[in-house]
Amino acid sequence: MAGGNAIRGSRVGAGPMGEAERGDAVPRMHVSYFCASGHETRPAFAVDAQVPPEWDCPRCGLPANLDEHNPPPPPKTVPYKTHLAYVKERRSEADAEAILQEAITALRARRAAGEIIY
Ligand SMILES: [Zn+2]
Repeated sequence: MAGGNAIRGSRVGAGPMGEAERGDAVPRMHVSYFCASGHETRPAFAVDAQVPPEWDCPRCGLPANLDEHNPPPPPKTVPYKTHLAYVKERRSEADAEAILQEAITALRARRAAGEIIY
């Protein structure tokens, strides 16, 4: 890709001819990324840039990588967590046991007092 030939300035301290020929345009390369939907995306990177291992597909939003035959799997949807699951995360089994005993004790007290009949 040769660009900027019309404006070839005399750069102060220009290097050897080879470097001057290329001008100041940063050489670019296209890198192909493949997503699980079979799309190919070819963003351009400067040749000396670090090419990221993954790229979001602009067409479907899935992650894409450099391996055409092994694109990254679509991200799993986060499974719905029940309220109980959240409670279990916060409380240990011992806590649960203590709370249960407390509830039972309170219940028995109320039953003894005739508030609950069953
Ligand atoms: Zn895609």
